[in-house]
Amino acid sequence: MLIVMKFGGTSVGSIDALQQVTGIVKKARDRGDEVVVVVSAMGGATDLLLNGARQAESGDVATARDTHQEILAKHTEVIDALLVDSQWHDPLLAEINVLLDEFDSLCQSIGVLGELTPRALDVIAGMGERMSVRQVAAILECNNVRAQALDATRLILTDDQYGSASPLMPPTAERCQALLSPLLGDGVIPVVTGFIGATQSGIPTTLGRGGSDYTATILGRALGADEVWIWTDVNGVMTADPRVVPDAQTVPRLSFAEVGEMAYFGAKVLHPQAIRPVRRSAIPVRILNT
Ligand code: ADP
Ligand code: ASP
Ligand code: MG
Repeated sequence: MLIVMKFGGTSVGSIDALQQVTGIVKKARDRGDEVVVVVSAMGGATDLLLNGARQAESGDVATARDTHQEILAKHTEVIDALLVDSQWHDPLLAEINVLLDEFDSLCQSIGVLGELTPRALDVIAGMGERMSVRQVAAILECNNVRAQALDATRLILTDDQYGSASPLMPPTAERCQALLSPLLGDGVIPVVTGFIGATQSGIPTTLGRGGSDYTATILGRALGADEVWIWTDVNGVMTADPRVVPDAQTVPRLSFAEVGEMAYFGAKVLHPQAIRPVRRSAIPVRILNT
């Protein structure tokens, strides 16, 4: 079976959670499934990046420096714990630092210009996912699961609605088949950034907040996957947000129309657009608790 598995911010946000992810992916591989993994930024990272950029626009570049340190600390904690061997530890930390240096210089420019365009904001918003895929792929590799990190800017082509771009499905399907299918054929698990894409001329875009769910269903559709599994921190789609209504119940099964409507009216468990790509080809979506 070909399964696209998406892990949200909480699911890749701590040492324990990442160990859980490794176990889940290993289990699927050992069952003989082909797996494409989609990951979000570590929990809280996207908000920190956006805040740093917005503060820079108003002339405060010191916040961006704090953001850099805070995100670096999140990753370092994980890397120190899960990638003790310097073979994995040092190159990954170097890659994270390259991305954070890029964030610094973008914020520096934003501070000088005093202007933050939606296009620049998308470049910055997507940096957390670019750090996260590298981290998850390294952890898998270090646990004897062959994996490769990929930026979805190479896979998901979108229009230029920065902040809430829509995928262009035919060229996206072409890219996904060209880049992901050979990896799967070689037994390598692609670990793809959620949330981001790029225009046909290569300018980075984002699919809207919570957009990693959408990434998973776009890839599911593009690859003709058997199922899409959204791993998160609740027991599936529930009758209400369990944080607000403690006795909310799990809804065992919903039609595409029903879950689409729930998402549209604010059930954060799924991005409102995420059902679109899978609905037409009737690819089942499971919402699972890690
Ligand atoms: P992730 O980072 O995994 O994408 P999100 O925080 O985006 O996770 O979405 C999961 C959260 O959605 C849950 O923790 C829950 O508080 C909230 N939520 C809101 N409405 C619902 C619902 N109807 N069913 C389940 N979860 C819901
Ligand atoms: N990291 C992005 C966000 O916080 C996308 C996602 O989590 O799905 O909105
Ligand atoms: Mg989400």
